[in-house]
Amino acid sequence: MGAPDLAVNNPLLQSWTAPFGLPPFAALQPEHFEPALRQAMQQHRDELQALGGLADAPTFDNTVAAFDRAGALLQRVAAVFYNLTSSATSPALQAVQRCMAAPMAAHSSAVYMDAAVFARVDALHARRADLGLPAEALRLLERVHLDFVRAGARMAGPAQLRYAQVMEELASLTTRFAQNVLHDESQWQLVLGNEADLAGLPDFVRAAAGQAARERGVAGHVITLSRSLVVPFLTFSQRRDLREQAWRAWAGRGEQPGEHDNREVARQILRLRNEQARLHGHASYADYALTDTMAGTHTAVQGLLGDVWPRALAAVARERQALQEVMQGEGVQQSIESWDWRFWAEKVRRERFALDDADVKPYFQLERMVAAAFDCASRLFGLRFTLRSDVPVYHPDVKAYEVSDESGANVGVFLQDNFARAGKRSGAWMSALRWQRRNGGPELPIILNNNNFARGAAGAPTLLSLDDVRTLFHEFGHGLHGLLSNVQFGRLSGTQVLRDFVELPSQLFEHWATEPEVLRRHARHWQTDAPIPDDLMQRMQRARQFNQGYETVRYTASALVDMAVHARTDAEPPADLCAFEAELLSSLGLPPGVGLNHRLVHFQHLFSSSGYAAGYYVYLWAEVLDADGYGAFTEAGSPFAADVAARLRTHIYGSGNSMAPADAYVAFRGRAATVQPLLLKRGLLQEPEVA
Ligand SMILES: [Zn+2]
Repeated sequence: MGAPDLAVNNPLLQSWTAPFGLPPFAALQPEHFEPALRQAMQQHRDELQALGGLADAPTFDNTVAAFDRAGALLQRVAAVFYNLTSSATSPALQAVQRCMAAPMAAHSSAVYMDAAVFARVDALHARRADLGLPAEALRLLERVHLDFVRAGARMAGPAQLRYAQVMEELASLTTRFAQNVLHDESQWQLVLGNEADLAGLPDFVRAAAGQAARERGVAGHVITLSRSLVVPFLTFSQRRDLREQAWRAWAGRGEQPGEHDNREVARQILRLRNEQARLHGHASYADYALTDTMAGTHTAVQGLLGDVWPRALAAVARERQALQEVMQGEGVQQSIESWDWRFWAEKVRRERFALDDADVKPYFQLERMVAAAFDCASRLFGLRFTLRSDVPVYHPDVKAYEVSDESGANVGVFLQDNFARAGKRSGAWMSALRWQRRNGGPELPIILNNNNFARGAAGAPTLLSLDDVRTLFHEFGHGLHGLLSNVQFGRLSGTQVLRDFVELPSQLFEHWATEPEVLRRHARHWQTDAPIPDDLMQRMQRARQFNQGYETVRYTASALVDMAVHARTDAEPPADLCAFEAELLSSLGLPPGVGLNHRLVHFQHLFSSSGYAAGYYVYLWAEVLDADGYGAFTEAGSPFAADVAARLRTHIYGSGNSMAPADAYVAFRGRAATVQPLLLKRGLLQEPEVA
């Protein structure tokens, strides 16, 4: 517990007077968080107790809208806390995080186990058709009711107790699963002791392998099972014997007999998930998970995967042909095994696509690409981004922008934190310090984008790779989803949409990053200011389809295995998961040489948490939407067609979760999405079926 004076004299709990209501970052100390979080949770509990104890009969406003307004202080403090622990953490802040994880998790389950509040929500839900509610209010009532139901609120006493037990056991099993994978990854290493072992490795792989060796106290070079090392090794190493060793270790994670064996852990997780689904009245875990998605059923998911699978198989057969031609050219007579594919594919890439990061980077200076993203938002949605160096930020790297619309009115604040540094986690993500809402007084959004770009050397510019530029636009797309949110209720705001819809605004925005009109204007050589040459742009576009059969087959196979294992209705999981997986893949016709590196025994998306269980398909689902959605601009003849952009703003970037995602998409596009544009984009149609 914090000292009493920290509960009173605590900047987290006082009103924030900086411009736009930004937090007083400079005044915040790690010791402020625990007392503030505890007081904010208490306040939330008090609000809910008052709500549950109301003498008045439940109405939408005194119950559902009030539930949406409750917990505002907790949201405000927790948002600052989570953002700092991700982007600018410290040992002291990490200690607070460890000590607050359990009480905060307990708080959120207590909120949804509150029987008095749920009784009021449930009574309204039963009469929802007769309440005469506006569409967004009805959507909130359904959303809040579903949040309660999916947390177990409707279960009878003993079932609720058992449910809590199941969830607790799942939490510890998924943690164990992840730690077992981590163990196998950190135990294994391949020491490259001499120059012959390094054959074929380019400088950047040698440098990374040298760094890994230093970190492990080994002389020379080491390959570990970290993706960023093992994938380049499999791509470039000329030593087939070593590639095979690395592949076998990578594909065998989680399958080593002994205390870190995941085979039984995964079975226990599957058994408990099946019980979780049954407690909810569903026959399989996939049924339970998919009721709260845009896809809705596993039949719909299977439909998409079934459309893609045979075409991906055909594409991978064409790619195998190209690999064999290169092998013949070099006089190599071998079968193509799982540890060979990337190696020969890289030779095909160099021969046929000839695109090097070093060719494009001089045209992708960070500041110019940020300006390009802002310019696209301006041409599409009329937004203006004005740098404000007078507002508080949590680190000198962070740039704060006031965002205004075409009338000059403020619509929110955008914070961009672009560089990798110690104390910041890896990856790229969007988050919010405040979500847009009107319920309980208008609130404008404060949205963050974090990237992890390597800063240019002193005096040199920061130059991005094409992948980096896509990431910048991707996260900015999520950012616009937060900034353009135009809804009444906080629970429905911004990116708080269904998990197979949330990547649409981000993946869609990536299309503008490689739009020739955008590149000609913004991708200029940092020294000469010359625009990017047309032939380089064309090579970039062509290279996009390289090896897509291989990638799509591997991804789709993993998604099919995920669905198959979670759609089973038997209470008891297959006795031998590895055999189940092998039989399924062989019945699907997975070609030899295309190995999977997401096998069930180490498939963290599925078993390190429940976030993507029966949900690995979501990336492809969103890609169907973004490929089809961008077609609306192509058909209109301009990437900035005003009427298309207006519909995109209203129905996709602005509507949050205020309407069903399928309806939002149809309102934007005029029809449901089709899978053809995705197949075309990935080069999975030999002949274009749509122009
Ligand atoms: Zn994303």
